Amino acid sequence: MSAAPQTLQLHSRHSWQEQLQQAIRTPSELSAALGLTLEELPYSAAADDAFPLLVPAAFVARMEKGNAWDPLLRQVLAVPQENLPAEGFSDDPVGETSLYADTPGVIQKYQGRALLVATGQCAVNCRYCFRRSYPYGDNSQSSKERLAAIDTLLADPSIGEVILSGGDPLLLPDASLAAIARRLRGNTRGITLRIHTRLPIVIPDRVTASLIDALMPREQRVVVVVHSNHPREIDHDTARALERLRDGGVTVLNQSVLLKGINDDADVLAELSDQLFAAGAMPYYLHMLDKVAGSAHFEVSELRARQILGQLASKRPGYLVPKLAVEVPGADSKREIAPDYVGGF
Ligand SMILES: *Cc1c(COP(=O)(O)O)cnc(C)c1O
Ligand code: SF4
Repeated sequence: MSAAPQTLQLHSRHSWQEQLQQAIRTPSELSAALGLTLEELPYSAAADDAFPLLVPAAFVARMEKGNAWDPLLRQVLAVPQENLPAEGFSDDPVGETSLYADTPGVIQKYQGRALLVATGQCAVNCRYCFRRSYPYGDNSQSSKERLAAIDTLLADPSIGEVILSGGDPLLLPDASLAAIARRLRGNTRGITLRIHTRLPIVIPDRVTASLIDALMPREQRVVVVVHSNHPREIDHDTARALERLRDGGVTVLNQSVLLKGINDDADVLAELSDQLFAAGAMPYYLHMLDKVAGSAHFEVSELRARQILGQLASKRPGYLVPKLAVEVPGADSKREIAPDYVGGF
């Protein structure tokens, strides 16, 4: 009779799709979430117009309240420095727009691997992203086009790995991902499916049992390369999401971008490696910034990058030291930059 009403709603979480839909898109929502006034946020409407502010609340929740210099905030806030012209920074720094092959949405730069731009959309807009000024709207494919592109790729016997990139391919519905994975499994060569995504970091609830079922990592090689830059991005929920992938049979790697004021510090990178490893993910690449217009304030010099990597190598085992890599337009692989080791020799 007098049973207490159910309080289930207190514990229910929004689905990843709802979290995405409710993502923060305005500086006033962002400042309110951080306990800052709008004036305290170094926000630029012009920069926002050029590349819109977009960040899910689950990511904002990991930012330090009241800190306008928070390293997670700085990755997503449109700031006035973006509007300054900078020599050597352009709209297509990696020369990718000219690389769309005959198959729309496919980029094949390197042997054996082909990259499919699965969608132009992301769950978060990272200010340093080299895709910030791409005409990606034109390259989003229908499910049918995507599968046709995969068939074309698989007809080339040199292709052993298909990389879903974007945008963020985990924005695709599970059914679309399942169809892609099935197509690759159907090939007798045993094609590796690789997914480049930031979703498990920014909305950890994206990693559902149904996603793992769709990818079937016990039946084929599946590699998920997540993207995180700072140890505070790996909170409890993120770590559980990475573990779910790993426990499902996925090989989980991380790539970061070396960003001034965010992770240009060997101790910060060491802690990031520790957090990733604890969650079952291995550091893979630490990318030099792609010189996209609007990102010059994030630039770390090669000299400094080599020193940071050398210091990191002195603090951690080799398997926790990512490769410092730079994209060279026209090169046939990413180029690794040698660390400047502590102590000379
Ligand atoms: C980075 C990248 C790849 C993958 O390179 P790996 O060194 O295998 O990780 C493939 N295609 C394109 C276009 C890339 O930019
Ligand atoms: S998630 Fe990746 S592709 Fe999307 S904006 Fe961020 S860096 Fe760019």
